Amino acid sequence: MPEPAEALQTSGQATRQLRNFIGGEPVDGVRTFAKLNPIDGTLVAEVHEAGRHEVDRAVSSARAALEGPWGRMTVGERATILRRIADAIERRFDDLVAAEVGDTGKPEALARDLDVARAAANFRAFADVVSAAGLDSYLTEFPDGRRALNYAVRKPLGVVAVIVPWNLPLLLLTWKLAPALASGNAVVVKPSEETPSSATLLAEILVEAGLPAGVVNVVHGFGADSAGEFLTTHPGIDGVTFTGESSTGSAIMRAVAPRVRPVSFELGGKNAAIVFADADLDAAIAGLARSTYLNTGQVCLCTERIYVERAVFDDVAAGLAEQAARLRLGRPENPATTTGPLISRQHREKVLSYFELARQEGATVLAGGGIPNLGDGLDTGFWVEPTLLTGLDNSHRTVREEIFGPVATLIPFDTEEQAIALANDTEYGLAAVTWTRDLTRGHRVAQRMRVGMSWVNTWYLRDLRSPFGGVGLSGIGREGGLHSLGFYTEPTNVCVQL
Ligand code: NAD
Repeated sequence: MPEPAEALQTSGQATRQLRNFIGGEPVDGVRTFAKLNPIDGTLVAEVHEAGRHEVDRAVSSARAALEGPWGRMTVGERATILRRIADAIERRFDDLVAAEVGDTGKPEALARDLDVARAAANFRAFADVVSAAGLDSYLTEFPDGRRALNYAVRKPLGVVAVIVPWNLPLLLLTWKLAPALASGNAVVVKPSEETPSSATLLAEILVEAGLPAGVVNVVHGFGADSAGEFLTTHPGIDGVTFTGESSTGSAIMRAVAPRVRPVSFELGGKNAAIVFADADLDAAIAGLARSTYLNTGQVCLCTERIYVERAVFDDVAAGLAEQAARLRLGRPENPATTTGPLISRQHREKVLSYFELARQEGATVLAGGGIPNLGDGLDTGFWVEPTLLTGLDNSHRTVREEIFGPVATLIPFDTEEQAIALANDTEYGLAAVTWTRDLTRGHRVAQRMRVGMSWVNTWYLRDLRSPFGGVGLSGIGREGGLHSLGFYTEPTNVCVQL
């Protein structure tokens, strides 16, 4: 948990204040907490934590917005606003990149190419989806000659709580916000306490783009006994869409259970890759380096288990260890930087504890395994080395538990059946990758992965219309394209006798 803001020394300059955003206005919290920059541990901002009263105001403001002009807009009018929001994100592109980089320490190029670019794309994609979506309709014929027309109209769910994590803050927020707004809902957003900046800025951008005040409200704070819990237990919300840890998902399920509210959950993973001996090994090694180390391993889809056919095990291990060693840790604005720090001191302690556990479990460390020595004022930041392990199997905790850092374990296999069984031997089920030149086998294996997203010879290549989500501990439901409309709307079926 971040330190209280008062405990930190600042350089005499006024510290940036990040307030809640309720009914179109910045609103003070009950107290403030410090947001630190992960690259060097310096203070980024003081964040105003919302109490019960502020959360209540945010929910009321969202409810009131539903009763106002927003609730009467046509689908076409909403789609126009979504496209304007995408344009406004592009106008404020550099500000959003700066917000995202300041909170996460990720390389600027990554924030540009992935996070902020996808934020604009999310709004355009859901403007298109909602504009093109048809309705379910059936012409019903009975044996006695009567006929009826059934059609289902979509209505917004109502006031939706949107709770998001810190790893891709703006990307994941807009992935939920865009379809929620496309469907006509009003929203209360609770960004992660680790990444409050881009959500606060986006709230202003939304109003600039013409979204009526109160349609999107932002409350800052933590989970238990803070804004997250106050929001999920609030009687005025009609559903929760959440991305984060599986254990938080189960706490949220308990919170909404008394009122039986719908949930959409995108949760943790322990994702597998399978490399067959016939794969294009150069492409596979480059792909594995990306799927293991992108965003310092802090992407829910990142690979943490790599099963390699025995004949090519040593080649893949050597190639990937070399790629890990070549990654450049450094300042976000340096174009040569490939890899940023972890999000927080606390998260680094967790990742380092798994490096230690791996050693205790008998792992061989092929790359990394500790804290780098960076100099340049960065050694007060939350850095770890890109790490590669071998010598473990599926019985070890290192191979079973989500670490969420720049680390994977390589494990050999002998047959296709064995590889499939090993990859599916997990309570999680988010994503998988299969590397092979035999596309018949690629389809066969990909389909047998017990996951929501199964890639062949690539990773994290996305079509925003396709279903996204996980099975088991990795989530409930799918978002993406029409799947998102399925969650963010309630259908009412109308039956007319003809
Ligand atoms: P987290 O669960 O700790 O926090 C996520 C959000 O939930 C934060 O805003 C937090 O304040 C809030 N929260 C925490 N406890 C709460 C409670 N009791 N009630 C209401 N809100 C609460 O997750 P994190 O550490 O921010 O993110 C990392 C996790 O997210 C990893 O497990 C990762 O796999 C997962 N993730 C999943 C996906 C996906 O699409 N499946 C995408 C990104 C991240």
